[in-house]
Amino acid sequence: MDHHLDVDRKDVADLPVNANPLFTRPGEATEFPRFSLPATSSLPETVYQIVHDEAMLDGNARQNLATFVGTWMDEHANRLYVESADKNMIDKDEYPQTAAIETRCWTMLADLWNAPDPTRAVGTSTIGSSEAAMLGGLALKRRWVERRKAEGKPVGTPNLIMSSAVQVCWEKFCNYFDIEARYVPITEEHPLLDGHDLASYVDENTIGVVPIMGVTYTGAYEPVEKIAAALDEIQASTGLDIPIHVDAASGGAVAPFLQPDLVWDFRLERVASINMSGHKYGLVYPGIGWVVWREESLLPESLVFRVSYLGGNMPTFALNFSRPGAQVLLQYYQFLRLGFDGYRAVQQNCQDVALYLSSAIGAMEHFELRSDGSDIPVFAWQLAPGRSTNWTLNNLSSQLREKGWLVPAYPLPDNLADQWVQRIVVRNGLSRDLADVLMRDIRVSVDYLDSLDGPMPAPHTTTGFHH
Ligand SMILES: *Cc1c(COP(=O)(O)O)cnc(C)c1O
Repeated sequence: MDHHLDVDRKDVADLPVNANPLFTRPGEATEFPRFSLPATSSLPETVYQIVHDEAMLDGNARQNLATFVGTWMDEHANRLYVESADKNMIDKDEYPQTAAIETRCWTMLADLWNAPDPTRAVGTSTIGSSEAAMLGGLALKRRWVERRKAEGKPVGTPNLIMSSAVQVCWEKFCNYFDIEARYVPITEEHPLLDGHDLASYVDENTIGVVPIMGVTYTGAYEPVEKIAAALDEIQASTGLDIPIHVDAASGGAVAPFLQPDLVWDFRLERVASINMSGHKYGLVYPGIGWVVWREESLLPESLVFRVSYLGGNMPTFALNFSRPGAQVLLQYYQFLRLGFDGYRAVQQNCQDVALYLSSAIGAMEHFELRSDGSDIPVFAWQLAPGRSTNWTLNNLSSQLREKGWLVPAYPLPDNLADQWVQRIVVRNGLSRDLADVLMRDIRVSVDYLDSLDGPMPAPHTTTGFHH
């Protein structure tokens, strides 16, 4: 057998222990097996350095302008994270205080989203918006099934209505739980789900409609109030009472602070539930989402499990069993640390930077803005129509990557799939100062690409599109 970890190598073994610099040790000076468990154990310092160095090659998270997910928290949050890394969220009986804090967090969100009576709302933390969306979707489906059964009607063919620009979690939800996904295609006339023509999609098997507060492709808000009004009309003419679940993965932590007068939340009676990613504009590290129902009656009791084998009798509604509890404490930390004013200041700062960048990019003759970051601080642009360049947005993406910036380019969904856009997500930590450096790098890259003769080949690696 080939022992990759060659501890007998003379040059390593012969070094005196006290003169044994880290990078000459076995493991560093030799090679670990990559795809089978090493036969023997190693010193923690060596392995720490090995794993640390490989992770270093991932690139700098702060220059990742593709992701929506938090990459910065302050040092007190970091300390709290290390202290609570051992907490399992499911152990609610053992960790009653973490469980109580979870309840406080979703009750605060119910209040922030204008639930008529936050004490009568119900919610839970999740691993992210994907799980939260699925729980919201499952509640819609179960309520529809229970109503249909009570009416003695068949329950075999539920459908869910949403824009073709939905995040992939909704495609998964429909696929995994056997629900027909009815996509309303986005077009030049209707770039968002806006309620037009909704009656031709809705029928007695429709379990709900999912508007998005902060579309992944462009950052734009879908007009939830208009969609609700269209559903009111449908109810008046057909009797069908179709609920709304709002996918507010990003917008749920932006709109209450930056667009407080925009009516998209529980102020609309038709909005049954809302999901949000705590790890996006909720300003927590990856691993936390939230879902809230406006009142308990909207979460069917038949979906709630009560387990007793952890002690106590804890109601849970979740896809996972074990998951980190630390993120819930970090969310609570941010809520207390920032308060309403603090969140408003952080999100306003992100928006200012987004508007600054989008106006600078929009002013370049090569580009035309698809959105400007005035909804969530996310914007996208495309090559100016009719302007021919010897390069594509993918080439620009590669150029920026050489400078460490991840700025993805990707096509819009189906009907508009011939249109490529490039997107920047402005998160807490992309300062105005860094934004200036980024703008300089964009200008330098564009000048360089312009200066090349002939068409640029498609780059080998393109930055992946983060849904
Ligand atoms: C990010 C996102 C999701 C998925 O959220 P995760 O927290 O990454 O699971 C769903 N919908 C929208 C609109 C999103 O932006």
